[in-house]
Amino acid sequence: MRTIHHILLATVFTAALNAQSPDLGGVKVSWERYTGSASFTATSLGKFELRVEVDRKGETQPLTLRIALPSTGRDAWPANIVEVRDSADQAMLVRRSGIEWDKLLIPLPQSVTSCVVQAVDPAGGWPQVTSEKDRVLQDAISGVSVRIANWPQGRTAALSIRFDDSHPTHLSKAIPILREYGFKGTFMVNPGPKEPGSRQNYSFETQHAEWEAVMKQGDMELANHSAHHRGAKGDEDMEREISGAAAAIWKLTPGKSKLTALNLGGGTMWETTRTLRYYLDKYHQFDASSGSLGMDDSYGGRVEAFRKALQTHLERGLWCRVHYHYIGEGLSSSEANFRSALDIAKQHQDKLWIAGMADIYKYQTERSSAKLTLVKSDANSLAFQLDCGTEATLYDQPLTLEFTLPESWRNRQVILQDSKREVVKPADSHLRFEVPPVSSAFVIQAMP
Ligand SMILES: [Zn+2]
Repeated sequence: MRTIHHILLATVFTAALNAQSPDLGGVKVSWERYTGSASFTATSLGKFELRVEVDRKGETQPLTLRIALPSTGRDAWPANIVEVRDSADQAMLVRRSGIEWDKLLIPLPQSVTSCVVQAVDPAGGWPQVTSEKDRVLQDAISGVSVRIANWPQGRTAALSIRFDDSHPTHLSKAIPILREYGFKGTFMVNPGPKEPGSRQNYSFETQHAEWEAVMKQGDMELANHSAHHRGAKGDEDMEREISGAAAAIWKLTPGKSKLTALNLGGGTMWETTRTLRYYLDKYHQFDASSGSLGMDDSYGGRVEAFRKALQTHLERGLWCRVHYHYIGEGLSSSEANFRSALDIAKQHQDKLWIAGMADIYKYQTERSSAKLTLVKSDANSLAFQLDCGTEATLYDQPLTLEFTLPESWRNRQVILQDSKREVVKPADSHLRFEVPPVSSAFVIQAMP
């Protein structure tokens, strides 16, 4: 009788928690594949902090907690900085899927009776973020206004085209076709080296010379899809999987920024005591695991889905991301469908910045930490300061400054100077200059 009573209670309690208890701010806690009598109590300790206490009730089989953090809306947790600690304040091993960092599986060692799930600020702190009005200057005296453009070259939105798993058809199909269109692709590679007993195909390793030639040409981007696409067991294994792939990519891009997109791959499990943010910061990676439209033909209607997605992103001025696997007849995406999507992108090319994922991420991050300040002005000139909060060795994508000039400046030449260079252009109602993303003082003036 006692046991039945407990099972009943545990079930009721778990069911209640699964129904998104408002006390837990949308966090869902449950057992992973377990229906016995052991129970748990989850309590919110504050914003992004939760304690789970476990009553094993004599249960001897291994128990695993499943915690789903809200990933959208007002209550969304910053999943990349979440860790779990036991009552002795030791970081616990947590398992997550490579592309769902908001879903945690926490295996509970016999000795653990409670744990705290919490978001921790990154060791290096948060990047500075300025406001939209910091990125605009409207000066009444000169009549000039300056803004840091939403996207480079006066484009309305951005598009990245990604290819996963370093498949041979990326070299034989995707890259030659992209070059026909003049588009840049981002290639998420698994650079190996081949592990004994593995059934993965290590085409990046076997076709290394070809990838090297692509990178020499400099019109494509590589990204980190982990060394082997197999997940990791433990901190050291995870560190090797990420750092190994990063190092292989950096070797093919000598002297270039090390900032690289990271996506740990669908269908992989990663077990670590650390936050994803730890690995991102340590290896100059940024998280590219979500928000992308899958373009495999098996999802159906991909060309139309792409047309719609692109339209929405153009209307909202946002970054549209899509990803492919293998290109060719009978493979994940047929060549005809691949070309149809590129044709759509081509139709919108005047409004679209089609670039690598790191290029786009850099521009966004640089812009969101930059600000403009007025220094002085008169009828024919404006001196202002551009301040950038990003590290210049990693963030090297030029920023676009957009000027609106007064009527009195029209039909004249305009000079933009900073301490290093000066550029002369004919005055245009919307004049654009690309400038390095570093803090500097500028003067814009109308020639007599
Ligand atoms: Zn993959």
